[in-house]
Amino acid sequence: MADKREKNVGIQQITALLTGQSSIKLMAAILDGEIVDIRPRLDFSSDLGYSFPAIEKLLGIKSSEAMSVLESLVGEGMLEKKFFDRIFRCPHCQSINLRPIFRCPSCGSGNIARGLIMEHLACNFTGLENEFLIDGEFICPKCHQTLTSSESDYRSLGVLYKCQDCMEISGVPNMKWHCLKCSTISTEDRIIKSDIYYYWLNEAKRSLLEFEIKPKPQLIKFLNKRGYNVVEHAMVKGRSGADHRIDLLATKDDGIITYTLAIGIKVAGEKIELGEIFDFDDKAYDIGIHDKILVVVPELGREAEKFASQQRIKVLEVRDLDTVLSASTLEVEKTDKKGEQPFNFESKSQLIKYLQQRGYEVKEKAKMQGKSGATHTIDILATTDDGIIAHHIAIGIEESKEPISLDRVFGFDDKAYDIGILDKAFIAVPGLTREARQFAQRQRIKVFEIGQLEPKA
Ligand SMILES: [Zn+2]
Ligand SMILES: [Zn+2]
Ligand SMILES: [Zn+2]
Repeated sequence: MADKREKNVGIQQITALLTGQSSIKLMAAILDGEIVDIRPRLDFSSDLGYSFPAIEKLLGIKSSEAMSVLESLVGEGMLEKKFFDRIFRCPHCQSINLRPIFRCPSCGSGNIARGLIMEHLACNFTGLENEFLIDGEFICPKCHQTLTSSESDYRSLGVLYKCQDCMEISGVPNMKWHCLKCSTISTEDRIIKSDIYYYWLNEAKRSLLEFEIKPKPQLIKFLNKRGYNVVEHAMVKGRSGADHRIDLLATKDDGIITYTLAIGIKVAGEKIELGEIFDFDDKAYDIGIHDKILVVVPELGREAEKFASQQRIKVLEVRDLDTVLSASTLEVEKTDKKGEQPFNFESKSQLIKYLQQRGYEVKEKAKMQGKSGATHTIDILATTDDGIIAHHIAIGIEESKEPISLDRVFGFDDKAYDIGILDKAFIAVPGLTREARQFAQRQRIKVFEIGQLEPKA
């Protein structure tokens, strides 16, 4: 019962994936297990000649409408179909109520009989076996001779047709179709032939739909709780100018850094292959998002897994999602509502306090080894893990009498790159030169220009 209620709630979730109320209702019934196998049934009363009784009843529609709902779901990849039967229709009235009729190719008579044809070798009479059979004996109906040995008296020509009016023997009679509805007689080539199919759920989509119904709303709720604003099916323009669709785009501005998470959802029947996740990585790269999360059902293939780890894509398998979402105890206080003052601080210690309040672990003068092997000192390293992805912010501090020059910002950016930290902030006392500011902007370094590092005592 509880399960049922849960599934019904999910109808709202699958709405976004499907077009049309009928499609949504049908897919919900399929997921519920209410409808399993969708097979057509011959039905002379239907407008199609066949019907899908369960679906028509569920949706309250005619056969032809049921058929177009099914076909559109096939088009969307939700259902699969296979040949079931081929039906013939009257070209005049579309009825399937047709009766085959056979005509003599010579005189057009319908009075033709099919059977084993024999030829009496002595007089060349050919006829049906039963024409020869008189009182248990074979007697030629033309010359009245009694036939004895099959070897010398007669031969069999096989099963053929014989016209009872003109006596013509033919291998294939002319076949026509008589419509019992409108009485039209049509030749074979004018008959409308249509294939009918049976349908079933594409299992890969079952996982996707089930994901939409439960784990996805949970994930969104989880992100919302951590201060993210989440947009489903977000369209984002990349640097290349191309528009990209991101399954879930989560953004959060905590005053220091604006976080943007690209969350891709990949569902497959079996393992997800490399090619499928390339595309996600490409899109994220083009948009300039480095926090990449892939939610996968059921799991990645080996090559894909290797690629994901190389590209620093955080991979979450749906079966682990429950654990991930409930294990994290970190609750971030609600971030500033829109319209509130943007975060500003007047000293380093204020900044550190602010970071700690936001759940960051703060380390001053942190020593870190870069890819180059060199050890770097980061003025402030702030780390937070929001349960799904860990964020590291490198904060550089430069103080001088003059505006801080480009080479100092460049040096900081270099260090961060070598360490592999992509979220960067820079505190410049008393400010930056114009070139330095431009460079910082290009490198996505959040800059704070303040008058002094600590208030004078
Ligand atoms: Zn004869
Ligand atoms: Zn004939
Ligand atoms: Zn007809």
